[in-house]
Amino acid sequence: MADCLFCRIVRREIDAHIVHEDEQALVFADVNPQAPTHVLVVPKKHLGALSASTDEDGALLGHLQRVACRVAKDAKLASFRLVTNDGRGAGQSVAHLHYHLLAGRPMEWPPG
Ligand code: AMP
Repeated sequence: MADCLFCRIVRREIDAHIVHEDEQALVFADVNPQAPTHVLVVPKKHLGALSASTDEDGALLGHLQRVACRVAKDAKLASFRLVTNDGRGAGQSVAHLHYHLLAGRPMEWPPG
């Protein structure tokens, strides 16, 4: 989408610190990190949120989770949290599907 922030990062119209890229996914540092490691795992295909996905996106969604595992393994993370906010009420502020990969500090549950 032309004016989507994360689509613009995918197209390199906006700078980001990219830690992984492949045909379907981009992983980059969050500009407002909430943990020592905080990166965003993003599909290059525009999906407004996880709930905007269809059965046809199943392989893509699986791929994003495998990418998160690869990034975590490459960074030698002992543990991590992978979370997506779906909808404003859940805290979603950017309308392009993204998984937050957070690590490097104790994680509380339930999340606030
Ligand atoms: P959410 O609130 O779950 O939609 O997450 C959106 C995330 O995108 C927030 O953690 C923001 O800090 C992050 N963010 C916003 N703009 C940028 C940007 N230009 N580059 C990297 N991360 C960003």
